[in-house]
Amino acid sequence: MDKEFDVVVAGAGNAGLIAAIKLQKAGKKTLIVEQHNVPGGCATSYVRGRFEIDPSLHELCSVGSKEKPGSIRRMFDDLGIRVNWVELKDCFRAVGRFSDGSPMDITMPCGKEAMIDAMEREVPGIRKKMERLFRLFDEVNEGLGYFSDGTNYNIRYALKHFSNMLIVGSHSCKVVFKALRLPQKCIDILSTYWSYLGVDMSRMSFLHYAMMVSSYMEEGAYIPAFTSHELSVALEDRFRELGGTIWFNCRAESFLFNDGKVCGVRTSYGDVSCRYALANVNEDIVYGSMVPKEIVTPRLRRLSNARKQKFGARMFTVHLCLDVTREELGINDYSIFMLGSADSEKEYANIMRGMEHNTFAIFVCYNVANPKASPEGTCMCSITTFGSPVDWDNLRPEDYAAFKEKCARKLIKQLKDNTGIDLEGHIEEIAIATPWTFARYLGTPEGCVYGHETADWDDIISRSLQMGKDYPVKGLKPIGAGGPRGDGYSSAYQCGELMAGMVLRELEEAAV
Ligand SMILES: Cc1cc2nc3c(=O)[nH]c(=O)nc-3n(C[C@H](O)[C@H](O)[C@H](O)COP(=O)(O)OP(=O)(O)OC[C@H]3O[C@@H](n4cnc5c(N)ncnc54)[C@H](O)[C@@H]3O)c2cc1C
Repeated sequence: MDKEFDVVVAGAGNAGLIAAIKLQKAGKKTLIVEQHNVPGGCATSYVRGRFEIDPSLHELCSVGSKEKPGSIRRMFDDLGIRVNWVELKDCFRAVGRFSDGSPMDITMPCGKEAMIDAMEREVPGIRKKMERLFRLFDEVNEGLGYFSDGTNYNIRYALKHFSNMLIVGSHSCKVVFKALRLPQKCIDILSTYWSYLGVDMSRMSFLHYAMMVSSYMEEGAYIPAFTSHELSVALEDRFRELGGTIWFNCRAESFLFNDGKVCGVRTSYGDVSCRYALANVNEDIVYGSMVPKEIVTPRLRRLSNARKQKFGARMFTVHLCLDVTREELGINDYSIFMLGSADSEKEYANIMRGMEHNTFAIFVCYNVANPKASPEGTCMCSITTFGSPVDWDNLRPEDYAAFKEKCARKLIKQLKDNTGIDLEGHIEEIAIATPWTFARYLGTPEGCVYGHETADWDDIISRSLQMGKDYPVKGLKPIGAGGPRGDGYSSAYQCGELMAGMVLRELEEAAV
């Protein structure tokens, strides 16, 4: 096997695959090493009986239509990646309680105009404020594009063109929504998406929220026709087509250094030399156990200590393969957010107190968007919530199976109580993924799939603006959901592309 490469990418997750394609396309001889036997990380599928199950993806943002492509569709087009996209009709249905305790059952369609109309029906007189909010979203998105990799910007230019963005820049959603004088009912509805970023609205950066939510609302949401495995296979195919090399069942053990700069990667298939390495691996693991101690700068140590292992979402998901159609079960919505309370602070606190107190879950029925998601006469659903370290860190191995089953039963009952959808007697296959499932398959600490929480001082804006300082190890950058773009499919793809661009620039500078 060839053992000399320009760049080695450790991990074939969403970020790793995109980074590797961009590097290989730019003429850099690139190797991906992936510990699993398939690509994708979270973006994969597995089979139970006659069903193919997607373990993670509910929906992707920033895809947009062919006519009005979003940043991910443009990125895929530029890199030559082909995917069969399916568009979702609605952003979400949310059932449960508004923060004042009154019952909630609302459906928000995709599309700015449709969304504003729906909000006007729920909160009469809100139209002008919603239009203003969408104008702010637009400015934020343009501004974030301008700051891009956080290393090359002119503050005077930014002040002239993105002054509103800079005003709201350091504030949380809660503060900005109050400043815009949005009524509480409107705030409650707009808060529904908090779980996609994993932090409540009092700690979530408004810019981060604006970036994701405006995309779902304006460009719509998409899934691939053949589970997220289709995405990963399309990426792997493209990488190989460009001449890239992938080693599966191969673990990156550590990064090798010469004179303070990366010169190779120690893998379970032996040492490989390279000029640069990207790690699609959580930063705590990269700096904690994959590089020599003296390479970790005091700033990186302080950053890690300040984050105090405060990891983002650790998922708990029940996948349900049912022996009847969705119509027979009365399922009409693709995704239903079940909220004990629309008050995200309360909801987040309850989640962290453990499963007994957790009242939050998201139900998805894949067949609503994609009738061919499962064999004829059947349908496939999932119910997802967040796990808390309170439950999962101290669970004894002998109690694991019983506890995960108890949690699954609770979620199935929650679905029935909230929506009337009764799955009892129709479950042909069931698979339960806990934070430990994700820890085992991805190698992430505590099974987190969002990296460290993007909250307070550690939001994506601070991360973007500190990029010049936060990647001080020569020839090595961690990438992925824990990176400057935060969690999620689109963010991981964007992170991979951004970092690959930086690697190309650094390699060019080094060659001069
Ligand atoms: C239940 C669930 C639902 C979700 N829903 C959505 C959703 O609807 N929309 C959305 O946008 N996002 C969603 N996400 C989040 C999204 O899946 C993740 O944030 C994103 O996929 C993370 O991508 P990543 O690039 O960080 O890589 P990861 O998926 O973490 O992959 C990392 C890869 O690196 C490999 N690896 C790690 N260490 C090594 C090593 N030492 N050597 C070799 N290989 C290694 C792993 O095996 C893995 O393949 C969901 C996640 C889950 C679990």
